[in-house]
Amino acid sequence: MLRLLTEKINDIPTQPALYWNNQTISYEEVGQKVARWMDYLAALLPTSEKTIGLMSQNSDEMYYVILALWSLEKDILFLNTHLSQDELLFQLHDAKVTFVVSEVKFHTTLSSISQIVLLDSRLLPSKSQQSDRLVEANNITSIMYTSGTTGKPKGVVQRFSNHQANVKSAQLNMGLTAKDCWACAVPLFHISGLSIVLRQLITGCSISLYPKFDAEQLTTDIVNERVTIASVVTYMLEKMITHVPTDAHYPPTFKTFLSGGGPVAKETLLTCRELELPVIQSYGMTETCSQVVALSANDALKKIGASGLPLHGMSLRIVDENNQRLPAKQTGEIQLKGPQVITHYLNETASHLAKWTSDGWFRTGDLGYLDEEGYLFVVSRLSELIISGGENIYPAEVEAVLKQHPALTEVAVVGESDDRWGQIPVAYVVANHSVKVEDLQQFASSKLAKYKQPKKVYLCDALPKTASGKLAKHRLLTKERDVFIRHDDTK
Ligand code: ATP
Ligand code: MG
Repeated sequence: MLRLLTEKINDIPTQPALYWNNQTISYEEVGQKVARWMDYLAALLPTSEKTIGLMSQNSDEMYYVILALWSLEKDILFLNTHLSQDELLFQLHDAKVTFVVSEVKFHTTLSSISQIVLLDSRLLPSKSQQSDRLVEANNITSIMYTSGTTGKPKGVVQRFSNHQANVKSAQLNMGLTAKDCWACAVPLFHISGLSIVLRQLITGCSISLYPKFDAEQLTTDIVNERVTIASVVTYMLEKMITHVPTDAHYPPTFKTFLSGGGPVAKETLLTCRELELPVIQSYGMTETCSQVVALSANDALKKIGASGLPLHGMSLRIVDENNQRLPAKQTGEIQLKGPQVITHYLNETASHLAKWTSDGWFRTGDLGYLDEEGYLFVVSRLSELIISGGENIYPAEVEAVLKQHPALTEVAVVGESDDRWGQIPVAYVVANHSVKVEDLQQFASSKLAKYKQPKKVYLCDALPKTASGKLAKHRLLTKERDVFIRHDDTK
């Protein structure tokens, strides 16, 4: 079994390790469960198969299987449960994975493309043949594909050393100890969820695990002084605000929400301050094994829109197209260096290799700037930057304006080729009630400089998304865009 887990079982056997579905499971009990899963999996997975796929929604069983597979010295390919069969096929093929441990509900999708091992605790042996062999943490490797926001997802090879450096920086930033309980209502197959398991293995904190996000349940667990930290994405934080009990404050046991994946709106931050909800905003990616830049709750309002300061061990620079450092306030590519950053992708192609500079900096593909005090502001993705008649247009700025229109629920702004201007900004929008394209353009013209105003607006029924729910704008730059446009209403 993993040495890190065995140490916790020996040192703090009765301490809670996992809260799941009204049950409290101690480290000792986790050890017993993991040992049974190890027996079951060892009997079904050939020793020759080093990397095993895992496809499941959050559950106690999924958590035990993660620990069991690492204890069997397997690498785990984490599969997003929202992937289509074609996307799964690409990832399994690319990672050369044949065996997938999977919940029954995904069998129809998986059966023709992989060998399936059932993830069902009813099949477990009643007793385990637990061996005393200890497996070193260095064997922990997780493989996760990026969200595919900018193109084909890339296979990210996260090693224990990357995770360890990330946990260390989180520990220093948040004062994480074995007494903490980290709420995980984000998916374990995503780095936001899996990083919580790594934090537990290293610090001995407990995890409150949820099958899916439920604002009421999470509020109860915070108010009852169980949960001390909770990972959230923006929409979850917005929901939590509406569930704060009117007659009670969050108890002092609750340290903070850790928010990632995108910026938090100013209005949300102001409401959080009024309600005394502490929020740490952060910036990170699959390639850095979770957040590497964070903004403390104290700075949240002083630095509206900032992602924060680089965490311990992380070097960050903003550069121009020649990799020359830019001064404060100037926008360029964000590049990173540090032990949290992976060293390579799976099956390296020339474009994968090009993600590192010759002197070892990782090109994030994100644009941003530092203010005079060194705080990072993420502005856009490099690939989404629109250059129109020599002027830079950041789609996020135009989208934020259009989103203020009451009829619009979703907005994507991209650059369309244009003979005169090189590129022009165009908007793809989803409306919740009837709206005229002219009205939307009028709205934009009252709030944006002329060159930033969308020259065309396409009304759509839905916008293309990745399996992680992010806007896949690159699909609006191909012929596929026609599928999304409602042709009768366009202009
Ligand atoms: P792909 O690399 O395949 O295009 P992806 O970059 O969306 O997909 P992830 O690793 O899930 O895959 O997402 C990381 C990206 O999310 C970052 O590179 C950045 O663009 C964005 N992001 C993360 N945190 C923030 C933040 N605080 N503010 C703005 N953008 C953020
Ligand atoms: Mg990326």
